[in-house]
Amino acid sequence: MTESKLLLATTNQGKIREIKRLLEGLNLKIESLADYPELGTCPETGQSFEENSRAKSWFYGQNYSGLVLAEDSGLEVDCLGGQPGIYSARFAGPGATDEENIKKLLRCLKGVPLEKRKAQFVCVVSLASKGKILKTFRGRVRGIILEEPRGENGFGYDPVFYYPPAMKTFAQLKTSEKNKVSHRARALRKLKKFLFSNYKKNQ
Ligand code: IMP
Repeated sequence: MTESKLLLATTNQGKIREIKRLLEGLNLKIESLADYPELGTCPETGQSFEENSRAKSWFYGQNYSGLVLAEDSGLEVDCLGGQPGIYSARFAGPGATDEENIKKLLRCLKGVPLEKRKAQFVCVVSLASKGKILKTFRGRVRGIILEEPRGENGFGYDPVFYYPPAMKTFAQLKTSEKNKVSHRARALRKLKKFLFSNYKKNQ
């Protein structure tokens, strides 16, 4: 492979921070859409995480000369039939803040006992080069939606996502701890194996 740089197809600073940490050690310059506003915005019209992730990596790969890594992720709550799912970022409406989305989620779950508040984060990552999709990987992690936010780290629904093995919410974990177990980490670990076999820095 000849590419020397990789574009993270997101402007979400929380995701950029996590993915950069997860991809440390690669012989690639890592950039993000924050560096390339001229690439525009890919419309999110897919009906699944897979469709959105693949569409984004294909779209941004049209006008970028390196690898493009796109991801689509979100929260699926069992008793809400998998909602908010692909609408996680805009659950409380277009441009909603994390706080507004969490408030809406807690309203939807009002009165639901803890044992019925099971949920999962899902992440699908796609890698493309010159507009051709090379690989797609999925990761997920299961947890429980609490009745009140706890913790200050992370982003999105992290403060209400309780992860039983750690006995903490994702917002109470350090980035390094979340990066060992998260849906994004699980998907990216698979992708990283592929990238490392091609782009590992010389020791
Ligand atoms: P996307 O940018 O369309 O993929 O939106 C994903 C949305 O899902 C985010 O804005 C968050 O609301 C939620 N989400 C995805 N991953 C995480 C995570 O690791 N922690 C908390 N919320 C997440």
